[in-house]
Amino acid sequence: MKSIVSVRRCQDYRHEILRPQIEKLFTDSYENGICAKRGDSVLLKPNLLRPASPDKAIVTHPMFVEIVAEILSDCGARLSIGDSPPLGNLQRALARSGYEPFLKRLSIKSMPFLQKKTVEFGEDRIYKKIDLAQEVFDFDKVINLAKLKTHCQMTLTLAVKNLFGVVIGTDKASWHLRAGRMTDNFAHVLLQIYETVQPELSMIDGILSMQGNGPNSGEPRHVGIICASRDAVALDSVVSYLVGFPVDSVRTTVIGEELGLGVASSDRIAVVGDTTEGFPLVDFKAPKSMSMAWNLSYWNPIRRFMENHVITKPEIDSVVCQNCGICMRHCPPQAISEINGKMFINRKKCISCFCCHELCGSDAINIRQPYLGRLLSSFSK
Ligand code: SF4
Ligand code: SF4
Repeated sequence: MKSIVSVRRCQDYRHEILRPQIEKLFTDSYENGICAKRGDSVLLKPNLLRPASPDKAIVTHPMFVEIVAEILSDCGARLSIGDSPPLGNLQRALARSGYEPFLKRLSIKSMPFLQKKTVEFGEDRIYKKIDLAQEVFDFDKVINLAKLKTHCQMTLTLAVKNLFGVVIGTDKASWHLRAGRMTDNFAHVLLQIYETVQPELSMIDGILSMQGNGPNSGEPRHVGIICASRDAVALDSVVSYLVGFPVDSVRTTVIGEELGLGVASSDRIAVVGDTTEGFPLVDFKAPKSMSMAWNLSYWNPIRRFMENHVITKPEIDSVVCQNCGICMRHCPPQAISEINGKMFINRKKCISCFCCHELCGSDAINIRQPYLGRLLSSFSK
């Protein structure tokens, strides 16, 4: 049987035009259009990377989450909302990102992730244990509400990547460190989390998305789509295609299919909903990264060459930098240090995880691509 992915078009976040389209995502995904019954406890898991105004396209738009919550509330579900933003806390992220009014109106409980639960995996998985937020396991259902954004390390952050938020706070950095420069290893971490959480439904807010050097400081880009599926791997595969990226550039899709956690091949996916005329986009800007080189062995000469001449690296703009120290405290391999009041990156230690770029609130971290890398990128356009 094919995995169903629903794609609906919507030009903006006005309630009167968005609500009917989100209702269609539910009716496309379930025979009776209902994914929760009266009394079910349901956790909404948006992307709340950091407290940010919705027009910056960093967080899942509050109107998107509000309407999903209204629909589930109408079914009689008991709702909570949770995430573990890498910076700040959940309460601040909800307040600054415009969520508070509707949480109050619909009596939705905020659920910070605080307690850890160790999840064990079989011998066939790369990582044998992962600590996740205990709170996630206290619900009957999780609804995964992702934002369509580029991601310097993983190319795009979509439904599977959104669940990395159930890793509590600073544990996120330790997973970047364990996965190191190997993008595929990090994809395995994300997929093992997805396999454990098993969201009931994954939905993507792609009306105002982010292109370029996401997920924190890329450019907002109007795409005008919302999508949903019970198979997050298939959902991510379709959305990657729609924004014009090769499906295998988002490693969680191909590896997810290999592991049997979902499907990524177009012949195994049924896309339903509105017309996709005008897609795939031809001008959606990719992040300046060529992280696939990290999947080569450390001693591979091609990799050594690419590290020096092709691979993108973060670079601190000392004029813009506020010396807040956030990047230094959160850099997984401690590659950033302060010397004479200025921040420096030790290139040998840097694993190009781009956590610093993701967390800098001053947009002081640029993505630098060597000349040869830029040249190769221009050929691949
Ligand atoms: S997080 Fe940004 S502003 Fe803060 S020290 Fe690092 S580069 Fe500077
Ligand atoms: S300097 Fe930035 S990109 Fe490099 S390892 Fe540290 S956080 Fe990751």
